[in-house]
Amino acid sequence: MPDAVQPQETAPVQDKDVQMQVEQPAQPAEAPDHAAAPDQAADTPAVPEGFVPYTESTTSILFAAPPSSSSQAGSAPVFLNPVQQYNRDLSVVAIRTWSEARQREKRAFWEEGLRRKRERKRAGGAGADGKGKGKKRKAQDGEGVEVGAEADKAAEAAEAKRVEDKAPEPAGEPASETAAAPAPKGDEPLPPAPTYKFSLLEALSATGLRAIRYAKELPLLKFVVANDLSASAVKDIERNVAFNGLAPKGVFSLPGTEGLKEEDVKPGGGLSKADIDEARLGKVRVNEGDACVYMYQHRHEDARFDCIDLDPYGSAVPFLDAAMNAIADGGLMCVTCTDMGVLAGHNYPEKAFTHYGGVCVNAEYSHEVALRLVLNALATTAARYGRYIEPQLSLSIDFYVRLFIRVRTAPKEVKALASKTSLIYYCHTCQTPHWQSFGRVSEKVSAKTGVTNYSYHVPAGPPKGVDGERCGECGGKFHIGGPMWSAPLHNREFVKEMLEHVEDNKKDFATHERIKGMLTVALNECEAPLYFSPAKMSSLFNAVCPPLQTFGSALLNGGYTISRSHAVAGSIKTDAPRTFVHDVIREWIKTHPVKMSNVKDGSPAKVLLGKEMRHEVSLAHHPEAGKRLLDDVKVVRYQMNPQANWGPARAAVRGAPPAKKGQ
Ligand SMILES: [Zn+2]
Repeated sequence: MPDAVQPQETAPVQDKDVQMQVEQPAQPAEAPDHAAAPDQAADTPAVPEGFVPYTESTTSILFAAPPSSSSQAGSAPVFLNPVQQYNRDLSVVAIRTWSEARQREKRAFWEEGLRRKRERKRAGGAGADGKGKGKKRKAQDGEGVEVGAEADKAAEAAEAKRVEDKAPEPAGEPASETAAAPAPKGDEPLPPAPTYKFSLLEALSATGLRAIRYAKELPLLKFVVANDLSASAVKDIERNVAFNGLAPKGVFSLPGTEGLKEEDVKPGGGLSKADIDEARLGKVRVNEGDACVYMYQHRHEDARFDCIDLDPYGSAVPFLDAAMNAIADGGLMCVTCTDMGVLAGHNYPEKAFTHYGGVCVNAEYSHEVALRLVLNALATTAARYGRYIEPQLSLSIDFYVRLFIRVRTAPKEVKALASKTSLIYYCHTCQTPHWQSFGRVSEKVSAKTGVTNYSYHVPAGPPKGVDGERCGECGGKFHIGGPMWSAPLHNREFVKEMLEHVEDNKKDFATHERIKGMLTVALNECEAPLYFSPAKMSSLFNAVCPPLQTFGSALLNGGYTISRSHAVAGSIKTDAPRTFVHDVIREWIKTHPVKMSNVKDGSPAKVLLGKEMRHEVSLAHHPEAGKRLLDDVKVVRYQMNPQANWGPARAAVRGAPPAKKGQ
């Protein structure tokens, strides 16, 4: 996403969440307690002449000062659009949450391996001991490596999961010298599990602000590569890395290296490969090159990145294929697209199709369709390589979409993609959507083995409700949207953990109130796709709009679920059919009549009003309505435009002040 660079204004900042600091030269902001770079303040050089710093959270970056003749001279002249700090804060929360979940998974796997190994030993299975010792698998780049050779060994042990019988001895588990060695008792406690650190690629880094923040704010980060195509951007990144005290310190900064030649500094004796790499290359490793070429160069399983952040100006689509090749199993991909005119507008259906493989919609739920189109592009790209995606959090924010997905490899899940992909037939007038899936999966549990078998079928069509060229509700024309992702947008457990993380670490995030608000709405969203706004729905009938809680109560009284949508304020998500939603308005009209003199013959309103009710509707207050609509929760549910020059920034212009892509 672009850095919006704007002249400093005295415009009121309406949003208390967004705190922007334009610092004078320059104490870098204090690192939070957990930060991985605790003692760098002393190493930070003074602000070079001709530059001004911008500070956000833990990180200060430098911009060229405007010439003294400029109207902006004398005061801090430019700054990054603080609205975009939200994207960076949110990303830190998401990556921390994922890295902790990944660590738990890897530790559980490690412990399970150790337990099995002990069981085999107890069973007298000498075959487990020593047999595969000559075939140790090297720890994969990006796998967990803690300090010391023991931990290296532990990481190898965890990595050796694929060759279980040939696994090397895990840390703390002494190798059996002979088959006669005493077997460990079953209740003996397991040794502490290793720490699993991860690698991260910021493919389009621009100023390096995001990469530097990651290096300072992600405790489990091993290293981050900040890549950019432009030589001048790379210079900026290197300058900013050094300004933040993160320049490589060299191998001789490591203990026990006195008197050695550089090539003789090798892992062992308390030094791990990760220690040496960090001393030699730094925690932020700057690379000048084409992002796709760089990612394809890292497609080998041992070279992949655990986390990849794609934050381009415009669409991330040109980078998806390469990224899908370069991401490790269970890895997290963070994706921004800012081309909302294509994704959520209705003027470029041909572009949406060529970019994302699906047509956008001209309907009020276009922002959720935008998310589903991006997920479709991600999922189909992954599927080509036998991989599948698990959406963790998919948000439509301000003028862009931001998605966090995990990528894994499993043929069975790939086969299920057709059943998670649908197009919609939607009425151009009343916007009623009808879903047409591309696949159907059936399950059968084998009576003999108890194993569930899946079979994959072509679904029937057209969908229920589409039995002609015209909408059965209002007589409008059908249009088509998609194909798009039709499975859930978020992983509730993940969103819940993110929320807990923000709550516990408020001081780390200037935009924590807004993060909390948006995550709370996302967490409570019901899984039924799309949404409607009661105001728009009522206007279709020429009716006054019922209060949101009344509308929600009627749906709950009908036995359906409801929630808000994070994408549009005042909207309702529900699994109720539109025929029921329309009947809610018909019921409401009984006590809030429509002026029929305003309703023209042959108009959609006339058709809708002329229909008999097909459902029984109760508008009585439902006790759950307030709770489901989060009216009882004190959070900033939706954001107003946070400041005067709010909006997407212009594209990168080299040589000019840093109006670049990337942040
Ligand atoms: Zn219609």
